[in-house]
Amino acid sequence: MRALFDKALNEARGLFESLAPLPEFAPWPNDLEWQDRASNPIPVIKHLQSDPGEAGETTLGLRDALCALAPYIEWRHTYTEEEVGRDFLNRFGWFELAGPTGHFRSSQIRMTVGYWGTGLYYPWHQHRPEELYAIVSGQGYFETEGEEPQTLGPGQTRYHPSNRPHALTTNADPILAFILWRGAGLADNPRVS
Ligand code: ZN
Repeated sequence: MRALFDKALNEARGLFESLAPLPEFAPWPNDLEWQDRASNPIPVIKHLQSDPGEAGETTLGLRDALCALAPYIEWRHTYTEEEVGRDFLNRFGWFELAGPTGHFRSSQIRMTVGYWGTGLYYPWHQHRPEELYAIVSGQGYFETEGEEPQTLGPGQTRYHPSNRPHALTTNADPILAFILWRGAGLADNPRVS
C-alpha cells in the first residue's frame, strides 16, 4: 500500500517537472514526511477506476498510479449535499497527497487531487491560497471571475489568484486534476461563493 503512495508521489513529481508552470508556481517541497492516514472509501473510487478519462503522454503515468491507489486514499468531500447535491457527492472526491494534513506531510505546499464524473457542475467557490490546476485526464470547462473561460485537457494548467471565485463544469468527459496551493491558509477548506 505504501508503495502505491510512493509510486503516485513519484509520478506526480515527474509531471511536476515536465510542465513548466508547476515549478514556476512553487518549488517541489523538501519537507515531505509520510503520514499513516486511514482510507476513506467512497463511491468516487469506482467512477475513477471505470472512467478515468483520456490522459496524455506526460500524464498517463500519474493517472494510472492514482487509479491503482484509489482504494487506499483518505478521500474527502468537504462540501455538503445542500451545497452541491447528492449526485455530485456520489461522483466527486478529492484528497491531499501532500500538505499540512496529507498522506505526505508538508508545510510548504498543498498538493491535492480531485476527480469529477461526467456532467457535473462544481459551483463558484474560493479560498485564500493561490492555486494552480494541472489536468491529468479527461477535460473540463473552467470559469474564473474576471477572466475568459477555458476548456482544459491533459497537460494543461490554469491559475486562480487568492480569494478569486472560480467554477468547473464537466460535460461528456470526467476530469482528474492535480492541484497545487501556495501561500497562507494551506489547511483551509474552499468556501462556496
Ligand atoms: Zn480552487
